[in-house]
Amino acid sequence: MNRDLAANLKEVRESIAASCEKCGRDPGEVCLLAVSKTKPEEDILELYKAGQRDFGENYVQELMRKQQALPSDIRWHMIGHLQRNKVKYIAGFVSMIHSVDSLALARKIESEAAKHDRVIPILIEVNVADEESKFGIPPEDVPLFAKAVRELPHVRLAGLMTSAPLTEDPEEVRFVFRKMRQLSVDINLENDNNGEVNVLSMGMSNDFRVAIEEGSTCVRIGTSLFGARNYS
Ligand SMILES: *Cc1c(COP(=O)(O)O)cnc(C)c1O
Repeated sequence: MNRDLAANLKEVRESIAASCEKCGRDPGEVCLLAVSKTKPEEDILELYKAGQRDFGENYVQELMRKQQALPSDIRWHMIGHLQRNKVKYIAGFVSMIHSVDSLALARKIESEAAKHDRVIPILIEVNVADEESKFGIPPEDVPLFAKAVRELPHVRLAGLMTSAPLTEDPEEVRFVFRKMRQLSVDINLENDNNGEVNVLSMGMSNDFRVAIEEGSTCVRIGTSLFGARNYS
């Protein structure tokens, strides 16, 4: 095993900067979220030592274990499907929840955040391409959903999240990212949010360059940083 995770990190950062330059964006606008699900704590520490602070996890138990074992200034993002009865385990420390796909879940986050006297930033997960296998709410429901979330004092609607369908050619999913961008512009206009709803969490290892060209402010990258995952 001759992996050099710090070199991967450097390469990904350079690639993000190159994509930003290509479309005239400031690389400072794009947060790199290192998706560490299934990866050991040593790997996370290696990236941490190379300066990475934002990490994303999909499973609550794994997230809890890693948060307890690793440095306290890591910002942990929950990006996987979240069951209501598990919110209590992460409400005290999670930096952002990207995968909010029901009002019932948003209300649960509200009550658990209140217990910790925190305001938790959340993203609405949108199922743009209407894939049956996927979580997320349909784009047309987003404006009303956003309005309801804004009524919750311990939840801050920070933006939107999506995962594009897997394709060989990322150009095929450009329309997904474009639609997300338009959706975030629309919500900000409708709800008079003054641009507060400005996080667009989209783009993974295979399609983040296109996502950045279409306005992503948070790319979620696993494989290109840590190597392929082994679920066995
Ligand atoms: C696993 C995962 C990623 C990272 O995917 P890669 O293709 O490994 O970069 C990003 N977002 C979500 C929601 C994931 O589950």
